[in-house]
Amino acid sequence: MCTNHDTMKAAVVHQFKENLEVQSVPKPHAGDGQVLVHIKASGVCHTDLHAAHGDWPVKPKLPLIPGHEGVGEVVEVGPDVTHLKVGDRVGIPWLYSACGHCEYCLTGRETLCKDQQNAGYSIDGSYAEYCLANANYVVTIPDNLDYVEAAPLFCAGVTTYKALKVGEAKPGDWVAIYGIGGLGHVAVQYAKAMGFNVVAVDTFDEKLDLAKELGADKVFNPMNGDSAELIQWEIGGVQASICTAVSKKAFGEAYRAVKRGGKCVAVGLPPETMEVPIFDTVLNGVSIVGSIVGTRKDLQETLQLASEGKVKTIVETRHLEDINEIFRDLEAGKVNGRIVLVNN
Ligand code: NAD
Ligand code: ZN
Ligand code: ZN
Repeated sequence: MCTNHDTMKAAVVHQFKENLEVQSVPKPHAGDGQVLVHIKASGVCHTDLHAAHGDWPVKPKLPLIPGHEGVGEVVEVGPDVTHLKVGDRVGIPWLYSACGHCEYCLTGRETLCKDQQNAGYSIDGSYAEYCLANANYVVTIPDNLDYVEAAPLFCAGVTTYKALKVGEAKPGDWVAIYGIGGLGHVAVQYAKAMGFNVVAVDTFDEKLDLAKELGADKVFNPMNGDSAELIQWEIGGVQASICTAVSKKAFGEAYRAVKRGGKCVAVGLPPETMEVPIFDTVLNGVSIVGSIVGTRKDLQETLQLASEGKVKTIVETRHLEDINEIFRDLEAGKVNGRIVLVNN
């Protein structure tokens, strides 16, 4: 598809659960407080699939350009933006903007701001040639990371690094990673970089093979038996169980894999409820806590660990035109690592 200078190519959701349309749309321009980013790479997160399906209680805007792992080069800078310039390499995370002055923004918990915008959900995202961003919420990419490897760090990376912090494990403790997909395959690596022992759980053996290559100390496939029972039996439970799987069953196992005093960190977002036994929760002093992406500071740390070579995203590059097929593969659990859309 050819685009003139004031249009761009984008993948657009018009109706929930229908195919995205790859089409020409007006190219945006940077206004006050904004930058325009020429998108070089954009990871495909399972959240984008939930958005396109309208899975969650709060629906995204329609029509919608999804994408919240978009990285690229700043090509326009709004009149009042002084800390960024044309040519800077940045990424646009899920936390597209927050209010900057509420209780949460003031206490390093900006991802809980009630007045936030989310890229590729409440505002158009990065499944396009260009994406507008709030200049104060983009994060700069270290020079030695290329765009394709950096893209998944803007959601999968920061989300799992933050969830591991929330799990409060100490070096030498065991943690479990449930779901070794886009999020889980980086979670394993951040957990190792943080000094934890890692047990990886997924229903696909190929994903467990990848987890082993990436440093997992043990792997379990719940198709062969109850993973929580095995984890309790073999290692006495984990300090933190990070559940990224889009499965109610996985949440139940992740909860039961935690040892006394440990934490079950909920990250995946299946549109279901989690049943929790009150008696065990009380007697075992177990916490269940949600963790939503990470702050700009968490993202800087996430990128730093990758730039030091401690974490490497496993990616397959595709194009915007392939998006419907990619979504089908993601839903079927056929994606190993992360798929990253690249613009020619
Ligand atoms: P993904 O599809 O790449 O990975 C999910 C993995 O879970 C797959 O490998 C799948 O095989 C595995 N799985 C499915 N059933 C399982 C089971 N019963 N036990 C163990 N593993 C099982 O998806 P993703 O991009 O990694 O995203 C995962 C979820 O996290 C989505 O719901 C997404 O919306 C959510 N998410 C949350 C946040 C947050 O901030 N909390 C951020 C990003 C994504
Ligand atoms: Zn995401
Ligand atoms: Zn706020």
